[in-house]
Amino acid sequence: MENWLNKRAQLSPQKTAIVYQGQRFSFAQVAQKVHQQAQLLQGLNIKNQDRVAIFGTNSLETYYNILALQQLGAIIVFLNIRLAPNELAYQIENAQVKFCLVDSTLTDSAISQVPQVHLISRQQLKEVAPKSYTPAAVDLAQVASIMYTSGTTGQPKGVLQTWGNHWSSAINTLLNFEVTSQDAWLCTVPLFHISGFSILLRSLIYGITLYLEPHFDAQKCQQLLVKEPITIFSVVPTMLKQLLEKHTQPYNSHFRIMFLGGGPIDLPTLKSCQKYQIPTIQSYGMTETCSNVAALKPEDALRKLGSSGQALFSNQLRIDPPNSVGEIQLQSPALAVGYWHNQELYQSKFTADGWYKTGDVGYLDAENFLFVKGRIDQMFISGGENIFPLEIENVYSQLPSIQDFVVTHKKDALYGAVPIAYFTSSDRNLQRQVLQNFGRQHLAHYKVPVEFRQIQQFPRTASGKIQRTALPTLKFKLL
Ligand code: ATP
Ligand code: MG
Repeated sequence: MENWLNKRAQLSPQKTAIVYQGQRFSFAQVAQKVHQQAQLLQGLNIKNQDRVAIFGTNSLETYYNILALQQLGAIIVFLNIRLAPNELAYQIENAQVKFCLVDSTLTDSAISQVPQVHLISRQQLKEVAPKSYTPAAVDLAQVASIMYTSGTTGQPKGVLQTWGNHWSSAINTLLNFEVTSQDAWLCTVPLFHISGFSILLRSLIYGITLYLEPHFDAQKCQQLLVKEPITIFSVVPTMLKQLLEKHTQPYNSHFRIMFLGGGPIDLPTLKSCQKYQIPTIQSYGMTETCSNVAALKPEDALRKLGSSGQALFSNQLRIDPPNSVGEIQLQSPALAVGYWHNQELYQSKFTADGWYKTGDVGYLDAENFLFVKGRIDQMFISGGENIFPLEIENVYSQLPSIQDFVVTHKKDALYGAVPIAYFTSSDRNLQRQVLQNFGRQHLAHYKVPVEFRQIQQFPRTASGKIQRTALPTLKFKLL
């Protein structure tokens, strides 16, 4: 396939490609900047399929570096800037990166976390003699990026995403959400995650404007959504809740989709969205599927509360065993081709008839709407009943006094295991009775936690997910 950036710059040169902190650049300007950057990287002798890591914030520099690496046919290794030094070292080593490009907006102390051997600073790049290069055609079969999973369930895995995977994912979104050239997408999620990188690619492929923000700031986003002609915004549930707290006036009249990933939305939040006339699309996906494979449209949001929607066009979902609560399995052209240096593990995730086993559990209702119940590895059995922490967490997160609520289990002589909860709350006088009664009203009694452990703060993985493995080490106040 032709080079995406050059093609886009030919087709819509004057269209705004990116808006970053008030600065606007057209696709023609972006192509020119990327060309200069690619010449510098070529000066470093970066070759086709070399692995080059990007360690950067959501900055213009990161944006240009990503596109420049695409020009050279290098494999982009996305590093999470919140990783601890040992985690960074693991990923850099594991991916065998040739160079690591760091962003000059990062502090020296952040940069010092990166193993020095591979580091290329902006200063060093300035001293490199630019070299001419031939812009790489897009080979759909070629690996485009290595993106490490969140590591919720153990050592992060380097997911091998091809250009074909990203193309399919972008086309899925285009087909299912009727994106037009009038759309403009606000991105505050990290470019080093599939949530952010997929927005960058959609902008390039559809020729739409990317509003890039260094990070999520609810107040700033509220202003942007009011003032700028942004039509789509990608958020995770906690971001949406913070955003709604800052809702003072309606968004611009073109706004049409609040795109929600990472987990289901609760009824009070959904009702607030409806009150403010914010259409929400809830979605289900993972790093391995290069973004969403299922989504719930606004018109179904209330009718199918708690669902992550139907499989998007070109994706297939099934439950194993069928017609029950079981493992969610899928087939998708956006499904990654492997784990870097761990193909054995990746292969073990497929059934004999070629379906990818997600490790998530859920069910499909009569109209094929997906309901995600949780992860297989978080499930436990209490008195013979399967319990999924996610189900209990979703119920409790509806309580306004609860900030975060995480369920795990402890051994029990009678039942084998019983649920216990860790939570954060701004209410210092929260009573055990209140939590227990709330649980009993909304859940089967065996799902109501037997202990409520209030803590100050949850430890999180670099991608912001709660680090469950650290829960037993936390100091808590027992209610
Ligand atoms: P690791 O694979 O390293 O343990 P991870 O699975 O948390 O990390 P991601 O690829 O970022 O890394 O997250 C995808 C997972 O997030 C899904 O497999 C699923 O468990 C969860 N998830 C995504 N969307 C939803 C949703 N709508 N409802 C419930 N869970 C969801
Ligand atoms: Mg996973």
